[in-house]
Amino acid sequence: MIPEPFEYHVPKTLEEAAQLIAQYGEEGKVLAGGHSLVPMMKLRLASPRHLVDIARLDGLRYITEKDGRIEIGALTTHYRIESSSLLKEKCPLLPLTAREIGDVQVRNKGTLGGSLAHADPAADWPAAAVALGAELKAVSTNGERWIPASEFFVDLMMTSLAPGEIVTAIRFPLLPACSGDAYAKHHHPASGFAVVGVAARLTLDEKGHVKSARVGITGIAAAAYRAVEVEKAITGKTPKNLQQAASHAADGIEANGDLYASAEYRVHLAAVYAEKALTAAAKSAKQH
Ligand code: FAD
Repeated sequence: MIPEPFEYHVPKTLEEAAQLIAQYGEEGKVLAGGHSLVPMMKLRLASPRHLVDIARLDGLRYITEKDGRIEIGALTTHYRIESSSLLKEKCPLLPLTAREIGDVQVRNKGTLGGSLAHADPAADWPAAAVALGAELKAVSTNGERWIPASEFFVDLMMTSLAPGEIVTAIRFPLLPACSGDAYAKHHHPASGFAVVGVAARLTLDEKGHVKSARVGITGIAAAAYRAVEVEKAITGKTPKNLQQAASHAADGIEANGDLYASAEYRVHLAAVYAEKALTAAAKSAKQH
């Protein structure tokens, strides 16, 4: 399939990229790893007249610990996150999530910022972002702001980015003491995307009770969400018999259905994979 004709722009600086995106408005699109946008253009589901390729802005490719948090540049690839020793130690949910994305080619080209901005309902990163309460830095010709993940994913492939805004960085809280992270995913057998993906972080107190729980779920609904009823059901308890808490995974959520998985089946999978993620996070927390 051949995309509609477009003009291709390669800005040398972030400022230039922001100016181009502001100039072209609805006719312009940022290109990062191209692993979602290019297939959509080939299928003519997207037909931007101007592509602003930010992939050569190397300043947006980094992983660092800053002000007691992890900060990751938007152009950092899934593979770089998967293989980061800093993240394996300080924020393991991120490498655990990255390794479940696509195949090795996809992980070497696709970017964290691109995946979050694309907001595919079956993408993996949104689960980790909402579970951890990540924040996304958005830059435009009007300045910059940090957007909490809880306000970022609005609807199916829709975010709260304003026209002209480019995601430049994402920050995440460090793994606290006595805590464990886990990501459990049911892969779609054809596409490999998440039919359901559950990201969990559990922190235990000195008695081994759950002091705090953070659970984010993707694949079930139009946008990723925090499973607050699961979090409430497990907080203050010993992390045993997690099936009951996990059964709340889709409470109050309007589940999607398609040819592969009906809404009812997705709700069932949400509970099954929430239990898997909570069990693995509890096991990991006991080891820390
Ligand atoms: P692009 O394709 O370049 O852009 C995607 C969208 O985001 C575009 O609208 C673009 O304008 C916008 N955008 C990009 N960067 C920015 C930015 N910094 N600021 C603002 N807007 C921006 N994903 C999964 O989560 N799980 C999977 O299992 C999975 N499997 C895949 C399998 C295949 C075969 C393929 C081709 C893709 C798969 N993906 C999967 C998607 C992959 O992770 C993409 O790389 C990712 O969704 C988009 O990142 P990108 O950098 O390629 O963005």
